[in-house]
Amino acid sequence: MTESIARGLARERKPRGAEEGSPSVPVNLWSEPEALHGQRVPAFVAILRTRGCYWADLKGCSMCGYAKDTLGRSATAEEISRQRDRIRQAYRGQPYVKFYTSGSFLDDREVDAASRAELLGSFSGTARRILFETLPEFATPERLAPLREAFDGEIEVALGLESTQPEVLGRLINKGAPPSEYLQAADRIRALGFRTKGYLLLKPPYLTEEESVADVLTSIERARDHFDTLSVNPVHIQNGTVVEWLFRRGRYRPPWLWSLTEVLAEGSRRAPGLRLVSFPTAGGLPRGPHNCRVCDRTVLAAIETASLDQQFDGLSGLTCRCRATYDAQRALEPLGAEA
Ligand code: SF4
Ligand SMILES: [Zn+2]
Repeated sequence: MTESIARGLARERKPRGAEEGSPSVPVNLWSEPEALHGQRVPAFVAILRTRGCYWADLKGCSMCGYAKDTLGRSATAEEISRQRDRIRQAYRGQPYVKFYTSGSFLDDREVDAASRAELLGSFSGTARRILFETLPEFATPERLAPLREAFDGEIEVALGLESTQPEVLGRLINKGAPPSEYLQAADRIRALGFRTKGYLLLKPPYLTEEESVADVLTSIERARDHFDTLSVNPVHIQNGTVVEWLFRRGRYRPPWLWSLTEVLAEGSRRAPGLRLVSFPTAGGLPRGPHNCRVCDRTVLAAIETASLDQQFDGLSGLTCRCRATYDAQRALEPLGAEA
């Protein structure tokens, strides 16, 4: 990894939104590195502006601030159609396409059934894989089957499992459904011929660094048989969240990148054959996962390379002077030392 490549990686993968507010304009569009069946490819990412996550309105998750990117009401089919036109104009033939909605693509209140099929159908013959995210309760055969008809490539359904430990998912992260519902939804999705991707959260609030590493490793082992890909998402501080409240009072530090390299290296050993990835948001920034200023870029570059190529050996050989600080903080944190 050259220094120039590494320098480009210690930054936000998601650029700032260009235009804001209009229901006819997606929240954001960009291209990012990905891999498809072992080959590096560019992925096209579109964030649709929709009503947003219903759970965020009811209670919300402790680390999630995505509600700011939403309309606050359901988008009409006409508005979704105009967003689709913008998306198609910006699309450059990338083989991997990802649709995010700051909620659930399969929730009819966010994207109605006809608009979902039209959106996916408009990429038939061009994209090889389309990914979207949903909460487990919306992953039903009635919602999924028409999408199989609409799009002739692979469909990957992503679920924000976060943790397979009920206590962590329910009490610390504040998700509405227990882990078992996510695992059952993944099985349903697979039975219909779709691919499954699960997100695991590294360092929810109220867990120490040590506990969060153990939580992700346990979750990898328990979830591995239900998902084709598991993506480890280290917490970054989003506005207006419980995590931000704790962060502002010095009671929360985003995870160290050393924790991330450990869960990727050890997780890949414990779950051979599983595709394990991590593409941190806000990596190297104070509100994102970080080490010291000296090594962030190099470590982030190694994490991206390992994720794209599924080669994790290089992560174990990384070194920096901050490693000793990390080890000491990790050992002392359970005793109440400053994290
Ligand atoms: S993390 Fe997912 S389920 Fe939780 S509030 Fe955010 S969008 Fe909704
Ligand atoms: Zn360092």
